[in-house]
Amino acid sequence: MASLSLDPHQHTLKKSVSCNGVGLHSGNEINLTIKPAPENSGIHFFRTDLNDTVGIPAHMDKVVDTRLATTIADAKVMVSTTEHLMAALQGFGVDNADIELDGAEVPIMDGSAGPFMLLLKLAGLKKQKAMRNVLRITKEIVFTAGDTEIRILPYDGFKVSGEIHFEDSIINNQSYSIELSPEKFAKEISQARTFGYVEQVEELWAHGLAQGSSLDNVIAIHWDRTTILNDGGLRFSDEFIRHKVLDLIGDLALLGCPILGHITAKRAGHTQHLAFMQVLIEASDCWEIVKMEVKGNQSVFQQISSTTKAMGQQFVPFFVPQPIRPHHVGARASC
Ligand SMILES: [Zn+2]
Repeated sequence: MASLSLDPHQHTLKKSVSCNGVGLHSGNEINLTIKPAPENSGIHFFRTDLNDTVGIPAHMDKVVDTRLATTIADAKVMVSTTEHLMAALQGFGVDNADIELDGAEVPIMDGSAGPFMLLLKLAGLKKQKAMRNVLRITKEIVFTAGDTEIRILPYDGFKVSGEIHFEDSIINNQSYSIELSPEKFAKEISQARTFGYVEQVEELWAHGLAQGSSLDNVIAIHWDRTTILNDGGLRFSDEFIRHKVLDLIGDLALLGCPILGHITAKRAGHTQHLAFMQVLIEASDCWEIVKMEVKGNQSVFQQISSTTKAMGQQFVPFFVPQPIRPHHVGARASC
């Protein structure tokens, strides 16, 4: 057994919180409410504009598009741009929550996870009785595709490292590494905004995409590749790689439980994140599910997948969609 800083208990929120903002792709104003949810339920997205009472589980097997953002769908119900909110939930330590939206996208807010972290802090964390199940890496897994390499190693914690290389002087080579905790995520990662070259944004507009993008929610890199168009400049000199780490944390949250491992992603985006997660799940001899518990005042884990296998039962991955849980769209409490 290893002693860990990870809290062994599942958590939800103390109360519901709401905000609104534009959708990056549609430009429509969208209302978002994050509600407490029962233990072992995970994260679900509900489309209130479609009277959706089933919800889309925030799981990798629900991902249907990774081109501009991560999009999940179930039947005909779809929600796009999940990654920044999912990163905030993971970074803050929320296991169970119901997310209500009256549109097809999570609002882009300022292009970072900062506004969602503020919202979650207003709600407050509530400890639940159920203990966390954690995916623990036991052997190295390496995924390569073109210039991309994503590697995960055994580690008694959750460490996330990223590297990017762009042929310009403002981004160029950047790398960042963080041992994840709510405090570090809030301070070092959550404020980092999404970015793009200004001509890429213009091309998206010409094709009717990214209608909600503006200098209020995207760092626009100037044609000269040495400056950005946004007033106020960068929040961090290496804001670009910090945002890539944020995206990676948000996509990995679609595994459905915390990870014990050290992941390093080089030149990766949403498409490669999903491909890596699929490789990881297939490599079932390289990880196990462990159940957190408390021994004295220490947080430890016990191996449960080997027990499950020894019992001759087929191990059921945690990312299999949860049984349908009726959801009642109630009164909206605002922060
Ligand atoms: Zn992003």
